[in-house]
Amino acid sequence: MNPIAKHQSLTAASPLADAAPAGATGVITVDLATIANNWQALARRVPPARCGAVVKADAYGLGAARVIPALVKAGCSTFFIATPDEARLARSLAPKADIFALDGLAGDGGETFVALGVMPVLSTLDDVARWSVLATSRHANLPAAMHIDTGLNRLGLPARDVRRIAAEPGLLMPGIDVRLIMSHLASADNPADRKNRDQLLAFETLTALFPGVPRSLAASDGLMLGSQYHFDLVRPGYALYGGQASQSNPAPVLPAVSVSARVLAVHDVPPGETVGYSATWRATRPSRIATIAAGYADGIPRSASAPDGRPGGHVVIAGTLAPIVGRVSMDLITVDVTELPADAVRVGDFADLIGRGLSIEDAGYSAGTIGYEILTRLGQRFARVYIGDSQ
Ligand SMILES: *Cc1c(COP(=O)(O)O)cnc(C)c1O
Repeated sequence: MNPIAKHQSLTAASPLADAAPAGATGVITVDLATIANNWQALARRVPPARCGAVVKADAYGLGAARVIPALVKAGCSTFFIATPDEARLARSLAPKADIFALDGLAGDGGETFVALGVMPVLSTLDDVARWSVLATSRHANLPAAMHIDTGLNRLGLPARDVRRIAAEPGLLMPGIDVRLIMSHLASADNPADRKNRDQLLAFETLTALFPGVPRSLAASDGLMLGSQYHFDLVRPGYALYGGQASQSNPAPVLPAVSVSARVLAVHDVPPGETVGYSATWRATRPSRIATIAAGYADGIPRSASAPDGRPGGHVVIAGTLAPIVGRVSMDLITVDVTELPADAVRVGDFADLIGRGLSIEDAGYSAGTIGYEILTRLGQRFARVYIGDSQ
């Protein structure tokens, strides 16, 4: 099923045209109030568990410098980032928050994390040993999170290492103050997958070896699996930005991002003519093609191209859904506006690529990817407009 079919209300005229800085060919609008509301809506779902916020990768490409202060103001006091650079920015914006660094000590972040008071998420015995050495050389206890693997086989201490640590904590992790034990689910986007229960049981079994240490298992999709997955802290990222991570359990969040770009030209294309690089799409009727100032350099995946016989991505133009035709190129896409009234599409108008009923999931699905990749790859060329900032 094409997920676009579920959207009903495609309304006219883009509000972004008003917000667009003069000269911008494209605009990414980030609604900070919606992100704050989304966090609060998720936080209301999980008591007695607490709700953190994952703001790695520059807050999923939306701008951590703006997103983190909005979340602090909304009441969030626990943040997850990935790298030492991200830790520096997060600490400067959230001076009192608990900040966890998901990539651990790779990249020699140890000294940086100590200086910033950021807690690394330790996922290997090597990381555990290095954090211990830093602690003992300072004659101090250093706080950290311990990431254990329960079946994702990506990052996390294997069960045998977890048991060894539990048996001899003073030997294997002297000086480490474990503030959080976490694991990550592989298939939480599909509630019917048995892997969820298997990982839940493995997590309960292994964390029982560390009584009293706070626990965290769920990200955006795991949070929607139910309260038995919440433990002490949940770690949503994608849902904060309006993403629907779960295939069947909608999160109580609203879209927070829209992307629009200007129409640069409108052409009549007679039957038999082709449109775009490699001539992959051929008009079969007298067609009108609008050329829009957005391409793969702006984060429109080239896989959203639509050669003959294969659907690709869509835009909303003059309130109507219009299909991309031919290849997505670096700076441009071409869309078929033949169905629209002749005067509906004008050069200089904005077409919406995300927003106005086109979700980031729609954009991902039609390009053979997921909304996460769409968000984190939005380019740097478009103007960024932040709205809903009450500071
Ligand atoms: C990225 C990440 C999250 C957040 O995941 P979302 O699906 O965006 O909510 C949580 N935990 C870990 C370990 C992650 O890497």
